[in-house]
Amino acid sequence: MDECLFCKMVAGDIPADVVYQDDDVLAFRDINPQAPVHVLIIPKRHISTLNDLTPDDAGLIGKLSLAAAKIAQQEGIADAGYRTLINTNREGGQVVFHIHMHLMGGRRMGWPPG
Ligand code: 5GP
Ligand code: ZN
Repeated sequence: MDECLFCKMVAGDIPADVVYQDDDVLAFRDINPQAPVHVLIIPKRHISTLNDLTPDDAGLIGKLSLAAAKIAQQEGIADAGYRTLINTNREGGQVVFHIHMHLMGGRRMGWPPG
């Protein structure tokens, strides 16, 4: 996806503050952090929303959660706790249409989110 912001980050065309990556996953700090730790974890392959997943993507989506747990350890927030979430479409609050898991921590999270 030529015009996708996060694909451009995967390609290295736009700088990203990368905290983790492997063959399938890239994770970088959110430009507008909502918590002391706020990382976005994305599949390197473009998928727009959760609605676009196929059964073949099950492993890939699992890898986002595995990466989140690894990054939480790395950032020192695993034991205290953290939040992961994926926004989908307009009412879900999705703004960037390349699936991304938010990892937030370093403060107490309210529930329910706004
Ligand atoms: P969404 O609302 O789609 O779930 O989340 C999009 C997230 O991407 C927001 O938290 C926003 O701050 C972040 N974001 C938007 N543009 C950029 C950017 O250019 N760089 C980084 N690192 N994060 C971005
Ligand atoms: Zn993309």
